[in-house]
Amino acid sequence: MPRCESCGNSSVLASTLTSRQTETANPPPYGLLANFDQEGRITTMECQGSSLDEAQAAFEDPPAFFNTCPVCGSGSINWQN
Ligand SMILES: [Zn+2]
Repeated sequence: MPRCESCGNSSVLASTLTSRQTETANPPPYGLLANFDQEGRITTMECQGSSLDEAQAAFEDPPAFFNTCPVCGSGSINWQN
């Protein structure tokens, strides 16, 4: 399952690669958040401005999209094991 190499978080990852809401004064830092189960499968996703197409693509290929740990902000995500 994916794991942040900085803080060890493996339950939630964020994507900075998708669109995000920009019309608000304080846009969210990430366009898409995903929660993962113990086996590394996505359980739920939270769209914060990403399109449905982007969310679908991210769901099908998480390592290509979820590049950031929202807990500590690190971009070092280990997708091995
Ligand atoms: Zn982290």
